[in-house]
Amino acid sequence: MKPFDLGVITGLGDAPAESLKRVRELGLHTAQLFPGEKYLSAAGPEQVKKALAETGVEATCVFCGFPGERYDDIPTVRRTVGLVPRDTRVARVQLTRAFIDFTAEIACPNTAAHIGFIPEDSTAADYRDLVKVVQEICDHAARAGRNFCLETGQETADVLLRFIEDVARPNLKVNFDPANMLLYGSGEPIAALKLLGQYVVGAHCKDGKRPTEQDKLGHEMPLGQGDVGIERFLATLNQIGYKGALTIEREISGDQQRKDILAAIALLESVKEKLGLKS
Ligand code: MG
Repeated sequence: MKPFDLGVITGLGDAPAESLKRVRELGLHTAQLFPGEKYLSAAGPEQVKKALAETGVEATCVFCGFPGERYDDIPTVRRTVGLVPRDTRVARVQLTRAFIDFTAEIACPNTAAHIGFIPEDSTAADYRDLVKVVQEICDHAARAGRNFCLETGQETADVLLRFIEDVARPNLKVNFDPANMLLYGSGEPIAALKLLGQYVVGAHCKDGKRPTEQDKLGHEMPLGQGDVGIERFLATLNQIGYKGALTIEREISGDQQRKDILAAIALLESVKEKLGLKS
């Protein structure tokens, strides 16, 4: 993979080779994978590895997904997403370790997750416990030779930066999603990218608008139609020395998703050309 190569985030469905063939049909050869638990078992990694080799798709990141997560509105996200909710924490930490092992088995460098809303008060017991949990996960990832990446958006960049510094593990990185910053109303994405720059190893090309109602999420939009400012986003990635892929994320399904992804590819190619970002 070369810096700024385009890719897409994809599930693996029932047949990984079919899902990855669809990535190639879009003209792409990198992907972030959202495998779900079913591929974590004995034969799963081998099956996915084979599908990657057959299709020539390079996996740049494996995304953890946890049963019971819901994104209906902000209070629901707080209650159900990531490693912050205490009731599900032990099981999800175990699952995260399994996703990291899977990542290593398919020879992908990064595992990523939404860990939930990081508490703002760094003196609170909740915050200190979360630091410890992520330290343990990073140590597991380090033994497997992988990075563990935090997806941006649920907290401000300041809170995320302090958390990364408090965890203090060299393999703790960031998968930067500029649209999430808008959807959760957690700050201006370009300023956030500059602040977190040195930790960013993955980037989602997603767009959106801020929420207009209390406790609601904003609206995800086709790339270029939200408030991220895609040209500024790519220019800033270049400025911070980013070397990863540009992974298109469009959180709808069906035919419209494919159309929006194709339009996103065309937009990203033209912005790359304008900025002289050859991949
Ligand atoms: Mg994302």
